[in-house]
Amino acid sequence: MIALLPMAQSAPVKPKAGQPCNGCGVCCAEEPCHVIRDFAHVTEGPCPAMEWEAGRFYCGLIRQPSKYLGTVPEGDNPLGRQIAECLGAGRGCDSEIVGVDWSTTPHG
Ligand code: SF4
Ligand code: SF4
Repeated sequence: MIALLPMAQSAPVKPKAGQPCNGCGVCCAEEPCHVIRDFAHVTEGPCPAMEWEAGRFYCGLIRQPSKYLGTVPEGDNPLGRQIAECLGAGRGCDSEIVGVDWSTTPHG
């Protein structure tokens, strides 16, 4: 069950799996990824590390891991790169979720 976020109403429509990620946020709203599960013990979506900017979601764990993991800010760049690699960032949408259109889904 996808937990909805107020700003999701303005988010882009989810592309098909394999197409470029457009920051729709559907995957991270539905359930937390293995990285934040393992390192921050988050067990339910929406993931608290989802960051909204300029009409799309970004992974805050990649952008500023210290904010969510309690690590030192000076290590954000190398750690963020490792997390991005671990998550497969830049390799396209890996979510098979279908039929989600934020713009027509009731928000609670
Ligand atoms: S990986 Fe797919 S579902 Fe997740 S934010 Fe990117 S486009 Fe949306
Ligand atoms: S840590 Fe990043 S990729 Fe993982 S669920 Fe949260 S926002 Fe999505």
